Amino acid sequence: MKHSVSILRDAMRLLPEVSLVASGYLGFGLSSPWDGHAYLVRSGDEAALVDSGCGRDATAAAARIERELDGARLVAIALTHGHVDHSGGAAVLAARFGARVFASPLTGRWLAAADEDAIGLPAARAAGTYPPDQSLAAHAGADAAPRIPVGALTLRAIETPGHSADHRAYVVDLPGGRAVFTGDLVFAQGRVALLDESDERMLAASIRRVAAEAPDVLLPGHGAIALSDAGAHLAAALRAFDAGVRPEGLVA
Ligand SMILES: [Zn+2]
Repeated sequence: MKHSVSILRDAMRLLPEVSLVASGYLGFGLSSPWDGHAYLVRSGDEAALVDSGCGRDATAAAARIERELDGARLVAIALTHGHVDHSGGAAVLAARFGARVFASPLTGRWLAAADEDAIGLPAARAAGTYPPDQSLAAHAGADAAPRIPVGALTLRAIETPGHSADHRAYVVDLPGGRAVFTGDLVFAQGRVALLDESDERMLAASIRRVAAEAPDVLLPGHGAIALSDAGAHLAAALRAFDAGVRPEGLVA
């Protein structure tokens, strides 16, 4: 798919503590077209990124994050999974801000080895999902700890395989309610992204695990964002699975 990359826009404030700092073609056209959503969570003088975009336009991405940090320190980059639209920016942003990368053990291993086969990048490049020069930059030493302190907040990882084997979601209790970062596990209106490598039964079980957390806010890796009533969006996917039907795809 051809994209015209135009002006890079500023971050979008979603909640007092959460901003959208990257979002591409399957989102809000805020940054590189190939970026998934990347969120900045801020508490006091510390902040964390959830996902990192694809790593293209890295200078502009870092500048946008820096403006949104507004003097706070980026202490963590928490990745939902290794697909390059979520993890491609991790190496450059970690180096730029001195932030620690957090990821599942599997994502961490793939990132350390820049294992493009493991994240399906050659096939995605061949299919035109990414430009021919899209690569994964290696970053060693990702931390698999399931709890990530950010100021007065804690991001809590939940293992959610299904879309990919290495997938994690993150839950955070904000003063206004509980938010969940679902990456590519599940999207608004209960949409899902099933790839050749995906496991549908594991995906359904993982969505059920997230629904059991009873989140209020749904912050997925692409598409619409739900600032309330997250459970209704998760229930839509589970209803389809319960009826033996595959939920609608993020991309039709
Ligand atoms: Zn993905």
